[in-house]
Amino acid sequence: MTRFIVIASAKGGTGKTTIAINLAALFNNMGRNITLIDADLTAPNISTYLGFPEVPITLHDVLKGKNQTKEAIYLHPSGFKLMPASHSSLPLENFQRKLGSVLLDLIGKTELAIIDSAATLGLETLQALKPADEAIIVTNPELPSVLDAKKTIKIAEDYGLIVPGVVVNRARKDKHELSINEIKSVLQKQIIGIIPEDKNMRKSLMMKQPLVYTHPYSSASRGFKQLAEMLK
Ligand code: ADP
Ligand code: MG
Repeated sequence: MTRFIVIASAKGGTGKTTIAINLAALFNNMGRNITLIDADLTAPNISTYLGFPEVPITLHDVLKGKNQTKEAIYLHPSGFKLMPASHSSLPLENFQRKLGSVLLDLIGKTELAIIDSAATLGLETLQALKPADEAIIVTNPELPSVLDAKKTIKIAEDYGLIVPGVVVNRARKDKHELSINEIKSVLQKQIIGIIPEDKNMRKSLMMKQPLVYTHPYSSASRGFKQLAEMLK
């Protein structure tokens, strides 16, 4: 069986890509067979974050019907498989149906597919999934972000997806942000991860490696590890 987990939020910049990359790295370290998919088709950035070279065939080529799904999967040096996207654009109306069939191609080929989605295309990504696949909703501890998360939870559940919980990213635990209890009560969902604001994140970006590799004991890495434990 292949488990599909999409990392979603209605807002950009909440930390979806960062969470997707670090979860892929941690599950890979646990010996799981992982495929990380860059389904942010308008502004894909997993390859940039990971310093992954430009590759000849990407998810875009598969969606255009030029290549097969397996041709767009590459091995990242740390061991997980990566399906990058390219910056070229594609008419949106074709995206949802075709992404769904790319995901179906992965069934039985990988144990866990982690799908990084775009804020603007989040809806299409959620539609491409099957009922009972999982959507993890990412929010920052601010009201606009939490209200967007509430919308995203509703849409995901309307599609029949399971929302195991919400990840609160960039938590500073100061008086200017919503508390975990306040977020929980607005969203009526379990908070399955709290990832602190971490200055080492910028260093890991410069090093083009997941934070859990460059700074395994920093506060956000500890948050990622607890999240991975919750999800495993
Ligand atoms: P999204 O994919 O939701 O648009 P990203 O993962 O690209 O968001 O994160 C946006 C920016 O915030 C990036 O520069 C990233 O390094 C930074 N960031 C994400 N999470 C944290 C964190 N916990 N601490 C510090 N910086 C973070
Ligand atoms: Mg992103």
